[in-house]
Amino acid sequence: MNQIVVIGAGQAAIWAAKTLRSEGYAGRITIIGDENHAFYERPPLSKQVLLGEATHESLKIFKDEVVDEFNIELLKPVKVTHIDRQNKTVYTNTDQAIPYDKLLIATGSKAKIPVKEWSSFHNVVSLRNIEDSLRIEEKLNHIKKVGIIGGGWIGLEVAASLSKRNIDVTLYEMNDRLCARSVSREVSDYLLALHEQHDVHIRLSCKHLDLNQSDEDQSVKIYVSNDTDTAVYDLVFLGTGAHINKEIAEVSGLETSDGIVVNEYCQTSDPDVYAAGDVAIHPSLGFCIQSWSNAQHQGVIAAQSMLSQQVPYEETPWLWSDQYDKNIQILGSPVDIDHCQLVVRADKEGDHCFFYLDQEKKLHYLVAVNNNKIVKMAKRWIKAEWPLDPDMLKDQSFNLMKIKPK
Ligand SMILES: Cc1cc2nc3c(=O)[nH]c(=O)nc-3n(C[C@H](O)[C@H](O)[C@H](O)COP(=O)(O)OP(=O)(O)OC[C@H]3O[C@@H](n4cnc5c(N)ncnc54)[C@H](O)[C@@H]3O)c2cc1C
Repeated sequence: MNQIVVIGAGQAAIWAAKTLRSEGYAGRITIIGDENHAFYERPPLSKQVLLGEATHESLKIFKDEVVDEFNIELLKPVKVTHIDRQNKTVYTNTDQAIPYDKLLIATGSKAKIPVKEWSSFHNVVSLRNIEDSLRIEEKLNHIKKVGIIGGGWIGLEVAASLSKRNIDVTLYEMNDRLCARSVSREVSDYLLALHEQHDVHIRLSCKHLDLNQSDEDQSVKIYVSNDTDTAVYDLVFLGTGAHINKEIAEVSGLETSDGIVVNEYCQTSDPDVYAAGDVAIHPSLGFCIQSWSNAQHQGVIAAQSMLSQQVPYEETPWLWSDQYDKNIQILGSPVDIDHCQLVVRADKEGDHCFFYLDQEKKLHYLVAVNNNKIVKMAKRWIKAEWPLDPDMLKDQSFNLMKIKPK
């Protein structure tokens, strides 16, 4: 094997390249990315960058000299248009045909725009990459009032960052609670209170929304059906979810559903084609986990598999969000949390940990606010499948370090 090609130049791609080299692969690595920028961290875009506390230059996953050592042939901005699996070749919009022995698809996801016309409005933005971030930055100095559509993690982070910049923020959510797909009502209520304390106006149950751009000053009106009030904003931010970039896998006949189907070794239905990161469906959970740590770990596993080291992907899903002075960490899968027992532990500072225990009292899911220590312990409890005592978990005076297997 002498030619590995990676489509996408993000988090999963660079971790795959790093692993290939550290595991002794000496052949060619070609990475093809359609952005002007490559190998940078996206999470700070909605946090430190939006707050003016970090520059785009500081987002590099590895320093330039470290990336140089990986000896990658990087093609950017170049888009892969087609994979010919029979002849093991990828084709690009620059008319290049690049052969591969093994191929990794790490194409991530992009911001979902619910109505096509909205993307043509001058003051309607979304945030997935540095170009989007530059576009938002350029507008921020002239902005007093922002409408955010979508009360998921990115919408809430943007609300927190903009309100910290003294911008008047109203957030519209179609469900009757925030982050409804990933947390229970109790956590949604906690998030609602947090944002209201910081003067963000939250409007729930806004099922049918429409936008209209003024010809005069390009301000944007948000209409909510059954509501006679329309509000006018200098800028509207769309936090309306992600679209998984699975099209090239689909057209080349790989097995896909919501994302690309892979086994625990990140291998697709074609044994020479792998997928990792946002675009790959988690092998046991059955959906795409769109998180920084998933992209990193799957990139590593895919690289190991290409080198015939069969290490299964067994990481517990983990992601975090920063809003105001709260670091919110989420561990495990939200699937089936309705059937779990919720145990809430409040600490002296008023921060909370929400433990979801399954029927055998094992930890299934955790949302922890400002409590990295508990998250670290919880990773061990989940791995060891320890049953936990709800009374101990909720008792603030009980030191959780003392928990031992029964
Ligand atoms: C604003 C923001 C904040 C976030 N905050 C958090 C957080 O706090 N915590 C957390 O855990 N996660 C967070 N995430 C999610 C995390 O950043 C992603 O899960 C991670 O970047 C996924 O990595 P990836 O390698 O799968 O995809 P990406 O990093 O998206 O890289 C994929 C690359 O492939 C390119 N591409 C797509 N199609 C093609 C093609 N046909 N040809 C060539 N190139 C192509 C894309 O343009 C992109 O550059 C955040 C994401 C965003 C956008």
